[in-house]
Amino acid sequence: YNSELQRSEKMEIISQLAASVAHEVRNPLQVTRGLLQILETRHQIERSGENYYKLAIDELDRASTIITDFLTFAKPQMEQVHELNLAEEFKHVEGIIVPLANLHGGRLEMNVPRSLRILGNSSKLKQALINIIKNSIEALEGAGVVKIWAYEEREQVVIHISDSGAGMDERVLERLGEPYFSNKTKGTGLGLMVTFRIIEVMQGTIKFTSQKGIGTEAMIRFPAARFVETNAKVSM
Ligand code: ADP
Ligand code: MG
Repeated sequence: YNSELQRSEKMEIISQLAASVAHEVRNPLQVTRGLLQILETRHQIERSGENYYKLAIDELDRASTIITDFLTFAKPQMEQVHELNLAEEFKHVEGIIVPLANLHGGRLEMNVPRSLRILGNSSKLKQALINIIKNSIEALEGAGVVKIWAYEEREQVVIHISDSGAGMDERVLERLGEPYFSNKTKGTGLGLMVTFRIIEVMQGTIKFTSQKGIGTEAMIRFPAARFVETNAKVSM
């Protein structure tokens, strides 16, 4: 009777449930948002003072952002650990990130060789990467570049994500990953918390360096798949 196993089975059920809820809830949120926008334009003439429609729409957007920070790639099926080709994973991430970068007026440069392989769950890894890259794009504040590159070094796969954005001072740096810590008017403060947890489960590490007004760099390390023993692969 293994209570550790039981715990991971429970976590598995919770994350499957969360993924289903996210899928089901996203649509009604979008529909309600659309209806509120129609009402807003219809009632514009008689409007005076507080715009309750706008407040309601903002709150709906907030709910959507929270779902995005947690469950962008979540699938309602069983999640499994696989040997992942990092370049493949980044190709999917790019599909989401490039439009976002264009929207913010930033540029994306990516150099991830096809040879790099790590172990983990594909949707979780992509969620972790998206949350970091989204912050970089948001930090650009109009113009700049986000650079992503990766290589293998001493049995580890190393990923760098750097931006020429606003940067952070020491006091912000040491609070990264703290739940609800955000300096953005529409931030959730959940993005990096999720990222840190995922990287930890994958036996990885992440380190941020930053300089105010210059930019930020995240360095992530994972054990390279071919150096992980078979029994460690099963228990991840
Ligand atoms: P959110 O993005 O919702 O604010 P996060 O957990 O993703 O929450 O990030 C927390 C805070 O860390 C951000 O509000 C921001 O102040 C800071 N931060 C994270 N990444 C960067 C970055 N690349 N450049 C500047 N600040 C950053
Ligand atoms: Mg964020």
